Amino acid sequence: MPTRDPSLAERDPEIARLIREEAELEARTLRLIPSENYASRAVLEASGSVLTNKYSEGYVGKRYYEGQAVIDQVEALAIARLKQLFGAEHVNVQPYSGSPANLAAYLAFCQPNDPIMGLGLPFGGHLTHGWNVSITGRYFKSVPYGLSPKDHRIDLDEVRRLAHEHKPKLIWCGTSAYPRTLDFPAFRAIADEVGAKLCADIAHIAGLVVGGAHPSPIGIADVITTTTHKSLRGPRGAVIMCKQEHAKEIDRAVFPGLQGGPHNHTTAAIAVAAKEAMTPEFKAYATNTVANAKALAEGLLGRGFTLVTGGTDNHLILIDLTSRGVTGKVAAKALDRAGICANYNAVPYDTRKPFDPSGLRIGTPAVTSRGMGAAEMSKLAGWIDEVVKAPSDDALSARIAREVEEVCKSFPAPGLLTA
Ligand SMILES: *Cc1c(COP(=O)(O)O)cnc(C)c1O
Repeated sequence: MPTRDPSLAERDPEIARLIREEAELEARTLRLIPSENYASRAVLEASGSVLTNKYSEGYVGKRYYEGQAVIDQVEALAIARLKQLFGAEHVNVQPYSGSPANLAAYLAFCQPNDPIMGLGLPFGGHLTHGWNVSITGRYFKSVPYGLSPKDHRIDLDEVRRLAHEHKPKLIWCGTSAYPRTLDFPAFRAIADEVGAKLCADIAHIAGLVVGGAHPSPIGIADVITTTTHKSLRGPRGAVIMCKQEHAKEIDRAVFPGLQGGPHNHTTAAIAVAAKEAMTPEFKAYATNTVANAKALAEGLLGRGFTLVTGGTDNHLILIDLTSRGVTGKVAAKALDRAGICANYNAVPYDTRKPFDPSGLRIGTPAVTSRGMGAAEMSKLAGWIDEVVKAPSDDALSARIAREVEEVCKSFPAPGLLTA
């Protein structure tokens, strides 16, 4: 038996150094990837705890392993907090991440080759909503819907027409790159007309939903899935919420349908994040995330940028760079050199290939977690404009990277102890 248990730095200096370097990188750069955020120190502590040691296949009070006196309390607390936070009837906190959570909805409601519908990936949908390279597009008959060619908003008339034609078992409403509010009641009406289950995937907007900055699908959709690590600011993980009538099917789909033992350290960290999200500070965070996105959008529009749908209602902005003569990839790489981390993305009806599309996707959940506001959004719009004007000017990106680092010093990120 070891007499002492070395620290990470002692045991594995290489990994310890890489973690420190990532923390330093995160501290000195601006994170504009809209699916990313900073988990708090409390969330990180729970996530890095001894709860990772325990196997607990099954659910609270019905486990296949002994020794659950503590774990049952952890999972029950996570469930109770999420029920309160979202106003949900039933909550499953065990999905390993967003993609497995979505698979559970398929397993609960669909047979192989059943028709299903979701927003197509190139229009801002998620892979798991039936895109062809995903298992969900291969094992089900996927009928993607798109955006209106006129205003690039979800075309509910097309959703209705396709739903009546194909009679899907399941309809997804939820997005990864869509800057506008989702109309859950409209989707509910369409699902009811054709007898489909409605699944709302609020992975990106969960933090806005609980903070009152986006309408909630609770009580409207049959099932609501969400990741916990995006705007909700928890650990990497996911939860599924549903009406009581679907509780058994959803629970059985997660375990034993798709998964073995739950990640109890993640469950604990989800409980911590739920507690944080119940505070007035988090409500302000959600409001500010949207206010910052709108301010950033205004700043970009004022500098001549074209934004998909002309602006944003949520945390996310999709810039169409076509008129600026730069591709999304060139812009994203140049911004990265300038300390501004974003990702290239297709724009609706993009004529370029997915690996080098015309758009840039940015969002404000992470910079808002640092406490940044309108003044910083204005600076950010200026930096993005400068970089896009001269993406191969390395002196320019180096200068901006220094300015970014200087601003970052005044806005330490949650959880980054080295900041
Ligand atoms: C991020 C995301 C997911 C998938 O989450 P992972 O944890 O990466 O598997 C699912 N749906 C939507 C809409 C997302 O944006």
